[in-house]
Amino acid sequence: MAEFDFDLFVIGGGSGGVRAARMAAQRGARIGMAESGPMGGTCVNVGCIPKKLYSYGAHFHEAFEESRGFGWQLPGTPVLDWEILKANRAREITRLNGIYDGLMINGGVERLQGHGRLVDAHTVEVSHPDGQTTRHTSKNILIATGGVPFVPEFPGRELAVTSDDMFDLPQFPKRLVVVGGGYIACEMASIFHGLGAEVTLLYRGEQILRSFDDEVRAFTASEMRKAGVDIRLHSEVSRIEAAGAARKVHLKDGQVLDADVVLYATGRKPRVDNLGLAELGVQQEENGSIRVDEHFTTSVPSVFALGDVVGRLELTPVALAEGMALVDHLFGAAPGKPARTVDYELIPTAVFTHPPIGTVGLSEEKARTKYGAIRVFRSDFKSLKHTLSGSSERTLVKMVVDAATDRVVGLHMVGADAGEIVQGFAVALKCGATKAQFDSTIGIHPTSAEEFVTMREVSRT
Ligand code: FAD
Ligand code: NDP
Repeated sequence: MAEFDFDLFVIGGGSGGVRAARMAAQRGARIGMAESGPMGGTCVNVGCIPKKLYSYGAHFHEAFEESRGFGWQLPGTPVLDWEILKANRAREITRLNGIYDGLMINGGVERLQGHGRLVDAHTVEVSHPDGQTTRHTSKNILIATGGVPFVPEFPGRELAVTSDDMFDLPQFPKRLVVVGGGYIACEMASIFHGLGAEVTLLYRGEQILRSFDDEVRAFTASEMRKAGVDIRLHSEVSRIEAAGAARKVHLKDGQVLDADVVLYATGRKPRVDNLGLAELGVQQEENGSIRVDEHFTTSVPSVFALGDVVGRLELTPVALAEGMALVDHLFGAAPGKPARTVDYELIPTAVFTHPPIGTVGLSEEKARTKYGAIRVFRSDFKSLKHTLSGSSERTLVKMVVDAATDRVVGLHMVGADAGEIVQGFAVALKCGATKAQFDSTIGIHPTSAEEFVTMREVSRT
């Protein structure tokens, strides 16, 4: 008889947990998984997927306007049916939940519904929805429990909602106040503005999207404002009070804003509640995230952790890559392939604002600090589409080059399809492409992306 019930027991069926379970099962390992909610985790249920679907929905607003310049006659003003959007989204997410479930079940993973908690270094206790608990032993245990929204303490905190609530709001908010200036705040502000809300974004600092390239931040803020999002910098909330179903948002400078919904998008924290970490001596960082080494091993050698609960880079493709690297570490690489590790350099990312941002590599500021001598190439322009659409939206493309080696060390875009475009260029940067190699590449005409291979004039050194 085997010493343990499983070779690997995964707590959390989100991006990282599902990928690790599936890959490990393919290697012939015996896998168990506990998931307390619907399968797929944050990304599928309240993150990337519903967010992108609503972003598509929001883009129709401007498309209806812009179509007039191309000769389309719209019979009236199109109106959004929020109930239809929510129902169609919910149907698609339920379909995805089923696909994820199927991947586990057909892949031979024993899938348990319920909250998982560590009992000892090789045992997980699962509390099932019917009140029963079961115990499962495993040679290795993976914690992939993700994160939850963080909302600071302030008077009226309970009157604010988080991104988890935004996809299913009972009523579409005519007036939305968003607090925060990161990915979620900026995306939700753009999306709900596109869907028809009057949106005010309150950010406490100098400029939204800290840690992105400064020019990208300023350009995005300017385009979002032009589109109609009221971005207020150096703005802090002192309290929120209820006014019937509505909210009064009191700012520290004395102003009061009326809103139907107040969204707090002020970061996320690791989901480590009732996991039994402290009892077992699994070490955590100050912010609660689980401390791991380069192989995702915690301070308890049979317990591993990855994805948002570790919080290196809270992105789905990073959780997936970490899952695959862990499987290679625990069960060996796939036949004929080298063992995978995660390279945290040059991870491309997109912010699905309207217009979106696509970026890979260093900002101009970080490149200057790292390399000293750099060359910056940039161009901002009205895309061909907007010569007829009537929109004043502009596109920014920017490349940062290490002057000593001619290597492109940062590539940034704000404009339609930026995420799609930058994904391809990220491969070039991973390969160490030089500016001369970009210059020798023939463009695809007429596109916005061709600007990346046609910029010849240095803007700044
Ligand atoms: P999760 O996907 O959060 O999965 C964790 C799972 O563990 C959950 O299903 C949870 O129910 C379960 N769980 C937790 N505790 C227990 C327990 N004790 N027992 C059993 N189950 C448990 N990333 C991108 O790359 N692109 C995007 O466009 C993007 N958009 C986003 C938009 C929003 C609004 C948000 C919030 C996030 C977005 N992200 C995006 C980030 C992305 O969703 C996360 O980085 C990713 O889901 C992390 O995967 P994970 O496996 O670490 O955790
Ligand atoms: P971020 O860390 O991106 O942004 C948090 C924002 O909240 C910052 O602007 C921060 O300000 C502000 N903030 C923090 N604390 C307070 C406070 N007490 N009062 C007021 N403002 C505060 O977190 P998000 O919640 O936006 O997103 C979490 C993560 O999820 C992202 O970092 C990203 O990794 C991932 N994600 C990815 C997406 C994508 O790939 N497109 C989309 C959505 C999420 P300051 O800058 O001053 O600290």
